[in-house]
Amino acid sequence: MATSIFPGEKPDRLEEECAVFGVYSTTDDVARLTCFGLQALQHRGQESAGIAVGDGDTVTVTKDLGLVTQVFNESALAALRGEVAVGHCRYSTSGGMGNWTSAQPHMSAIDEVLIALAHNGTLVNTNRIRADLISKGVEFRSNTDSEVACQVIGYYTRETHHLTEGIKTAMEMIDGAYAMVLASPTALYAFRDPHGIRPLCLGKLPDDRGWVVSSETCGLDIVGAEFVRDVRPGEIIRINDTGISTLQAIEPQEPRGCIFEYVYFARPDSVIDGQSVYQARRNMGRILAREAPVEADLVLGVPDSGVPGALGYSEASGIEFTDGIVKNRYVGRTFIQPTQEMRQMGIRIKLNPLPSVIAGKRLVVIDDSIVRGNTSKKLVDMLRSAGAAEIHFRIVSPEVMWPCFYGIDTANQDQLIAANMTNEEMCEFIGCDSLEFISLDGLREAVGDAHSKTFCEACFTGEYPVALPDSITKNAFLKKS
Ligand code: SF4
Repeated sequence: MATSIFPGEKPDRLEEECAVFGVYSTTDDVARLTCFGLQALQHRGQESAGIAVGDGDTVTVTKDLGLVTQVFNESALAALRGEVAVGHCRYSTSGGMGNWTSAQPHMSAIDEVLIALAHNGTLVNTNRIRADLISKGVEFRSNTDSEVACQVIGYYTRETHHLTEGIKTAMEMIDGAYAMVLASPTALYAFRDPHGIRPLCLGKLPDDRGWVVSSETCGLDIVGAEFVRDVRPGEIIRINDTGISTLQAIEPQEPRGCIFEYVYFARPDSVIDGQSVYQARRNMGRILAREAPVEADLVLGVPDSGVPGALGYSEASGIEFTDGIVKNRYVGRTFIQPTQEMRQMGIRIKLNPLPSVIAGKRLVVIDDSIVRGNTSKKLVDMLRSAGAAEIHFRIVSPEVMWPCFYGIDTANQDQLIAANMTNEEMCEFIGCDSLEFISLDGLREAVGDAHSKTFCEACFTGEYPVALPDSITKNAFLKKS
């Protein structure tokens, strides 16, 4: 779905928080591979990028605000030599937007040696842990939950003189969603929360050149790594010069992978838990055509994530698919302040309709989600001024009624349009002729076998798989679940 493109303006959709990537190889340029991996994962976070490399003696970190290609040039990569690398790109939701100290990887010192941690997700119980560490003399550079995790690992590694023990202790203490990669001078670690809320997969470089971990399989593809498996919930994987070892550090809980990865966050060419994201999106469109049919002339998708759903809707309904909206691919999150005139142009700076295709036509418009509704309203205005005769909005996710606390930037509940309006009221606010959402059962069917898989669906249901303390929820809800 089209998002806000202006700095400081709240995005009108769910925004992914981060991507992580890691490489262990004694033969390859691990920093360069990590840079490529982060570029493949750039859609998950565009505010900062960082790479940490372990060279046998210590860990060196380079990070800054900006896109991966803005932060890393040839000389920056040339300064990062070693066998272990972890990387991160960030979309900040808490702990300091546009703040260098909040950029990852975070570091912690264990005696004379550094470790570096990259985290995708959000931890829900770090206030108390942070206060406890401060009382023990640990110093923090940022106020992020991710740095708390890094400092917990550092503290308990210093206590136990064993890094895997330090990670295990941290996993026993922290709650929430986390897919993490960690570099020591000699080893790469990857670990995941016991529900597996955020994705993390393991791959292998050809000719036994080494191992790769990535938030999504598209990160493996770009460096030529073969998918091996997902990192298991509650598992720690360690890779060093003796090979790969694994420890089930904490008891896995009922799987609760984020179902929204399939709807919007993940790249369509990724595979999560054995399910192609592209196919899942296409299935969503087919199911939506079954659940919410309408008479129309053309189906079009809001670029990019609405397009596979539009193809599926077209396939199932027999209504012709068309490219009716063109996206400017080079407008993203930017640090260049727009002019007032550009603000007034709003959505047009990113999306532009094709009047020659849509004028006089009854349109089915497929989008991934509606959060606040403002962007949908602008989109409908734009299509009407391009001459559309009717606009039937079809959404491939159910109504977003509850905030996410597991690594995604949502609004508070009072800003979520579906939590505050009936379907008719939303339809009127957006200005479309009809508005329908896929059912939750339909979405489950689209992403796989609804009877054998369980997901986190909390933004639709309010049923949060990890308990949330009041300090997290106190201002976020209109009503308690
Ligand atoms: S609340 Fe929604 S966006 Fe957040 S992890 Fe759960 S399914 Fe994903």
